Amino acid sequence: MDSDERQTMHMLNYPDVSQTDAFIVEFDGAIEAHMDWTRRILRCAVLHTPPGDDVMSPVAHTLCRFGHWFRLNAEYFRELDSSSVPHVEELHQAMHDAMRCICADVMKGNPGKISDLDAFERSQSELLMLLARLKTLCISNAVRHDPLTGLPLRYGIERDYALCMKDARRNHTRVYVVLIDVDHFKRINDEHGHPAGDMVLQHLAGTLRSVLRDNEPLYRFGGEEFLWLMRCDTPFVAERSAGRLLSTIRETPAEADGIRIALTVTLGLAEAAENEEISSAIKRADVALYQGKNEGRDRYVIAS
Ligand code: GH3
Ligand code: MG
Ligand code: MG
Repeated sequence: MDSDERQTMHMLNYPDVSQTDAFIVEFDGAIEAHMDWTRRILRCAVLHTPPGDDVMSPVAHTLCRFGHWFRLNAEYFRELDSSSVPHVEELHQAMHDAMRCICADVMKGNPGKISDLDAFERSQSELLMLLARLKTLCISNAVRHDPLTGLPLRYGIERDYALCMKDARRNHTRVYVVLIDVDHFKRINDEHGHPAGDMVLQHLAGTLRSVLRDNEPLYRFGGEEFLWLMRCDTPFVAERSAGRLLSTIRETPAEADGIRIALTVTLGLAEAAENEEISSAIKRADVALYQGKNEGRDRYVIAS
């Protein structure tokens, strides 16, 4: 897998973005807790007060609140930026190791070593910079995802499309731009209420994501419309996948407040031509979708 593909795969993961506000508060709290340790070291250096067993422990970096919190959320940070996790862990440990050496010297009545102080200052400053970058990534990731379904919004779509097309050229496969629109969704809202409509959209997003392959991007494209970048070998396979998706959705009703809500979708498929812009393929898929709606819904139509 080359780095471009890795980036596409990264786009496909969708951590729960509805909790971002709370997560950022936790993030700040964990950093603040860490700064508290730094204050203990300063007090130790100036007043010679013992910093505490946890600071002097050889595994201090696993005992502090920040270390604990970061480990709990390491999977999420890996989703955001896989290389940052080992880097944070390394800097965090280096900082604790330096703190321990400084405190050990001070408590023995020796002057601290300049090399330990340098290591402490360097690792602390790099760690804080890296954490600030991760925090920015958390926020921009939240903005790029739909809080209702967790699916990406359309921000990265051109780039993902270009990567899929490049991959298709290399492997002699095809890319279809597929618009997925819920049939008579307004009726679902009218009959069951808007909150139930929201649950239906969440349910549908889950069904779609479970049916599509991991390397096929799926976006919440608009209100009750989704966009799928389908990768396949032949037109026959594209039609078979579209047919399967329709039957899975038909056979998997949503449930809201104990009531089963049946739903169907209509699909408009446009095979992306060599060098075609995504906007042009989307327009063709939209025309096909419109045709599918006119022909009775719960079906797929392939654009000419
Ligand atoms: P068609 O089969 O022709 O697509 O009919 P439709 O009723 O699905 O299409 P229409 O465009 O008339 O209505 C779409 C409805 O989707 C209207 C809008 O209120 C609703 N909707 C859009 N976004 C959301 C959402 O996030 N939650 C809920 N509950 N409803 C939404
Ligand atoms: Mg619609
Ligand atoms: Mg609709």
